[in-house]
Amino acid sequence: MSEPRVLLEISDLKKHYPVRSGILRRAVGTVHAVDGVSFTVGVGETLGLVGESGCGKSTVARSILRLIEPTGGSIRLNGKDITHLGKAELRPNRRSMQIIFQDPFASLNPRMTAGDIVGEPLSVHGLAAGRKKRERVAELFQQVGLRADQMHNYPHQFSGGQRQRICIARALALGPDLIVCDEPVSALDVSIQAQVINLLIDLQRKHHFSYLFIAHDLAVVAHISHRVAVMYLGRVVELADKAELFGNPRHPYTQALLASVPVADPKAKRLAPMIEGDVPSPINPPSGCAFHTRCKYVMERCKLERPPLVAIDGQHQVACFLNGGTGRPA
Ligand code: ADP
Ligand code: MG
Repeated sequence: MSEPRVLLEISDLKKHYPVRSGILRRAVGTVHAVDGVSFTVGVGETLGLVGESGCGKSTVARSILRLIEPTGGSIRLNGKDITHLGKAELRPNRRSMQIIFQDPFASLNPRMTAGDIVGEPLSVHGLAAGRKKRERVAELFQQVGLRADQMHNYPHQFSGGQRQRICIARALALGPDLIVCDEPVSALDVSIQAQVINLLIDLQRKHHFSYLFIAHDLAVVAHISHRVAVMYLGRVVELADKAELFGNPRHPYTQALLASVPVADPKAKRLAPMIEGDVPSPINPPSGCAFHTRCKYVMERCKLERPPLVAIDGQHQVACFLNGGTGRPA
């Protein structure tokens, strides 16, 4: 497969939050929510972004959409640096990037009908009104598997899966180039999850936009992603083609995550024992490789130096000192 043209490129993205304490609200520490993340998303490509809760996935998502201001690094969309654009300059880019959140109920106004919610971006950007808008909304409903007559219903009259479909229709309304999906199925029943993921895949085939698809669980990104990035405590520790990542994981953390994915075949060999302990606090992240406190293969060097994310084989990148910087063989 030839490489897709780059749509989104984030380089050394950082987001730090001060931790304040006492009546004077003095800064007593820093949360390293995102600490030097780099990756690209190609046109029409899905990059899966996986990691345990609290590792910085939503912070990456919100920074890309510029819902929060990054502390450092850059975000380029279609070659254009959007890291520091002001509100007015961001406006045209707002059309090309959309986000879908985990909890569709919280992101839908309960007092608006589903049709008004989906049509709102069209009005805000002055793209359609009146009958033209109604027709476009009906078409969007049909594209996400809802009936046009459901336009008149309110969010509470839909099931969880249908509410996420409303969010997807709203994200589609402006014809985006990139949809950031922040755990879009994590709150849904397992049976519904697959339906929503299949819908997202079908829509991408039709419209050729890109996804940054975030989940805390590798099993969820397996089907939809072309490539997968694994995050740990604010950093990417491994990034590879999906088949490569699942077939030849090199970072002990990726291996542990994979080992905790339920396998259909009970005789299948598990790669490594399940990971133990919780993610350390991002306020004072461990020195060196942030994973060293939980890694079975930890070496002295891992406690002192931070392993850089390096390409070990074509597109496959890993940040681990084992085996001469190529990570542990699967
Ligand atoms: P994830 O989406 O992977 O669960 P988040 O990006 O939401 O992780 O959070 C990463 C880390 O940053 C967490 O430790 C979280 O507590 C912290 N964090 C997120 N937002 C803020 C904020 N506004 N102020 C302080 N800390 C924050
Ligand atoms: Mg999150």
